Order: sequence, then C-alpha cells, then structure tokens
Amino acid sequence: MIRITGKTRVLGIVGWPVGHSLSPAMHNAAIAALGIDYIYVPFPVEPECLGPAVEGLRRLGVWGFNVTIPHKSAIIPFLDRVSREAGLCGAVNTVRRDGDLLVGHNTDGAGFLASLREDLGFDPRGAAILVLGAGGAALGAVAALSGAGAARIIVANRTAERGASLVERFRPVFGGVGFSLSSLCPGELVGHLRTIDLLVNTTSVGMNGTRFEDLPLAELRSGGRVYDMVYAPAETPLLAAARERGLTCANGLGMLASQGEAAFSLWTGIEPPAGLMKITLRRELEG
Ligand code: NAP
Repeated sequence: MIRITGKTRVLGIVGWPVGHSLSPAMHNAAIAALGIDYIYVPFPVEPECLGPAVEGLRRLGVWGFNVTIPHKSAIIPFLDRVSREAGLCGAVNTVRRDGDLLVGHNTDGAGFLASLREDLGFDPRGAAILVLGAGGAALGAVAALSGAGAARIIVANRTAERGASLVERFRPVFGGVGFSLSSLCPGELVGHLRTIDLLVNTTSVGMNGTRFEDLPLAELRSGGRVYDMVYAPAETPLLAAARERGLTCANGLGMLASQGEAAFSLWTGIEPPAGLMKITLRRELEG
C-alpha cells in the first residue's frame, strides 16, 4: 500500500502514448515493498508539448522520470546535462534531478547487458553479434555490446542509410570492434548467421503478430543464442523458431525489468527487491 504524504517524492514516465506502459506497475510495486515515500505516475506528453512539459516537471519538483517513445532523443535539448552513455547513443530513458539540474541517463544498455547475463548466460566479450534493426533500441544495444568488449558487430536494417549512420556513429568511438553492415535479405544473412554467437532483434517485428518472413534461422550455429527485445507477446515467432531448434533464447522482459531497477536505484539510492520488477511485469502481461 502506498501512502501519500506532504513530502512524497514524485517519479513518473513521459511518453506518447503512455497508457500501455508497464513502468508504473513495476516501480510502484518496488516502492510499496520498500515502504518508501515515493509514487510513480504516467505523464502523457504530446511531441509538440515536450519542452513546456519538461519545464513543468522541473518547476513542480518532480524527483525523477523515465522517458519513452517518441521522446528519448527529442528530450536532450531540454535537459541541463546528459551522462556519457546517454550522450554516446543520443538517447535518454531516465532523468534524475541533481540539485536544480535535470540530468539525462540511459539505463537501457545496462539493462540489456544484465538481461543477456541473467537470461542467456551470455558475455559479449570477444563475441560476434548480429543486430537486427538500427532504431533507438539498436543504438543502446550496440553501444552496450561495444562497451562490453564485443569483437564483431553486424548491423542489419531494413533502411540501409539508418544502419550505416548507426555504424558511423560508433566506429570512431570503439576502435576495437569490427563493425559491418548487412541487409535483411536471406541470402546475405545466411553467411552471418553461420559465424555469430548471438542474434539480437531490436526491431519492432514480432509485436502485433508481425514476423520476419524469410529469416534463415536454421543457419544459426547450434551454440548460437537469440535475444528478442520484444516482450509482448512473450514468445514472438522468432523465439518460437529458436526454441524449436533447441537454441538458448530470451525475450525483452528481463531488459525492461533491469533498466527499471537501474533507474530506481539512480532516483532513490536503494536497490529494489531482487526479482520483484520482473515478477510484476510478468503478472501484468499475463493479466
Ligand atoms: P524505432 O526507433 O522506431 O526503430 C524501429 C526499428 O524497427 C527500425 O530499425 C526499423 O527499421 C525496424 N522495423 C520496423 N518495422 C520493420 C519491418 N516490418 N521489417 C523490418 N524492420 C522493421 O523503435 P525502437 O525504440 O528502436 O524500438 C524497437 C523495438 O524494441 C520495440 O518493439 C520496442 O518495444 C523494443 N524495445 C524493448 C525494450 C525492452 O526493454 N525490452 C527497450 C527498448 C525498445 P527502419 O529503420 O527500416 O524503419
């Protein structure tokens, strides 16, 4: 049970739309379990209102907030500072108040690495990884994989220019990583799948019944692993195919929980109870 007092610190999530977000449920579950004087609420903010909304949050003394689609990059000019990780991938998913300043952070990358470790038992150091997609989620994933010592990263995106601009962003920063580009054509993917350790889907394909029609997953070597950032449905067609092949695979639920745990710790200085956010998410999705 959360009790509101005159001193309750307000946390929240800024997005448009935001009604589908599972973040209020998982953060409030942690707040209630710890009995701390915080509350986490949704802030629906239309794209053209982002600047005034951030100023309003600042003036109202909101303690911290998450940022989701479509504001993760657009919010940067309205903040006072961004962390190294957020600057590197050009996206903010968590804002923390630092005195009078609003500081942007990105916990998506750390959440992704934590989920790879916990859900797949995978360490990117020295690994070859094929990343499908080049949007906001891919920026965070590629920065995190590069920072964690991946040896080789292939970026395959539907729109070639977007893939190229992602690689050009990171190539000068991570000299030790061998970056290359691919299309999503099966003929080109076959060669990559035979040589990689991990396949990551960062596209929205898999949501709402969509699927990659021609992905030659059968070519992925038997020890290869598959990570799908999509978490609803819990088993996307890509994950179903991976499971049928006996491959170790995981959806994005663990990443969502882990980025939330990291944000919660940034705001409160307290780690949420282990596993609680993940359990809450699973319950919300099943409900
Ligand atoms: P985004 O910036 O809009 O990027 C979307 C990506 O998907 C682009 O690479 C786009 O390719 C590709 N794409 C969309 N439809 C496609 C199709 N039919 N065929 C092939 N590629 C297609 O979105 P985002 O922020 O990166 O999010 C992407 C997904 O990751 C969403 O499902 C989101 O829920 C998920 N995500 C999960 C977590 C988590 O915590 N688990 C965190 C962040 C994001 P083009 O460039 O060609 O348009």
